[in-house]
Amino acid sequence: MTDFINAHCHLLTFKFVPDSFFKSRAPIREWLLRRYLTSFAARIATVVLPGNNYDRSHQVLWLLRQNIDRVAEAFVAEMRESGIILATPLMMDFEFAYSKQKSDIDYENQVEKISQACLKYPGELMPFIMFDPRRPGAIALTVNALENLGFLGVKLYPSLGYHPDPDNPYNSKEVNKALNDLYDYCEAENIPITVHCSKGGAYNKAILQSEELCHPANWEPVLKKHPELRLNLAHFGSDEALLDHENALSWANQILKLMKNFANVYADTSYHTKALEKKTKEQYFKVLAELMEDETVAERIIFGTDWLMTRHTWTEGDFCRACDKLSESSRQQIAFNNPLRFLFAEGKLPERIKKFYQANQIKPENLPMWLSVFLA
Ligand SMILES: [Zn+2]
Repeated sequence: MTDFINAHCHLLTFKFVPDSFFKSRAPIREWLLRRYLTSFAARIATVVLPGNNYDRSHQVLWLLRQNIDRVAEAFVAEMRESGIILATPLMMDFEFAYSKQKSDIDYENQVEKISQACLKYPGELMPFIMFDPRRPGAIALTVNALENLGFLGVKLYPSLGYHPDPDNPYNSKEVNKALNDLYDYCEAENIPITVHCSKGGAYNKAILQSEELCHPANWEPVLKKHPELRLNLAHFGSDEALLDHENALSWANQILKLMKNFANVYADTSYHTKALEKKTKEQYFKVLAELMEDETVAERIIFGTDWLMTRHTWTEGDFCRACDKLSESSRQQIAFNNPLRFLFAEGKLPERIKKFYQANQIKPENLPMWLSVFLA
């Protein structure tokens, strides 16, 4: 059996996101009837649509009402059942996307809570902190999380309202400086960055064509300036884009070009529900198998699911079992070798993570066995 590393998932509760996303205190029916500000929220809303895996939908709603430790516990239970030995939950910082709308638990506090929740599963949950260059003090908050709070990497979400290129006039001077500082730091310290890269997900609707801010081509100038950056273009542009990768306009086509030109560019398969749907799964895995025939690409595709966003219909087990359609060697690459290479530069558990565990009385023997086998 293949061991899986899930490089794209989220630990969330209603209190972690602004009210515009989830109306935690409104009755569900009322909540459903609201006009959703984002397709991201609409995606979660499918949670309560009748007739579609009703039980799973209710499990998600129940989970979103628990505290974050309970969500982490449920996630880890599901991971263990499905053969996922490591997952990297990606944080979300919405405070600058929706003006004046804050989550019940402010972001700094969320960072602490995620750090503590993941600390209960050392070597099994290693979170990514989200960096929003518009947040005052974002660099200090991010560096502290990476160096002292057990965070393995950084999550970016440009479609919430900024351009990822620090030389782009779209951004203010302050935003560009923050981005430059982040890329310098991450490149020097070999820190993995996962950036949202599909037309779905959360968008700042106040900004015209905000999805263009997520366009993979925006990364070319960034990578030219920071060629060693470890970058995962999340969702591979989307499953639809992947199936259409031969089309030059497909975001997946652009991502494949970046992979060819830059050594540390990856793409994850999160929210690729076409891998699970009866009508599309044959075609999906046929295309994926074809892509895996290319030597470069074969080392850059990484497994991710997008839990809890996907949990209304699909479990972690569903995503893992779907990969049975891959050849054994491709599955091993996507599920394990590639995410391991993306997450751990030079095959090492970063010193900063070791120090964090040490400071919290976690001894090397408390870590999963496989870590010491695969990571120096
Ligand atoms: Zn996601």
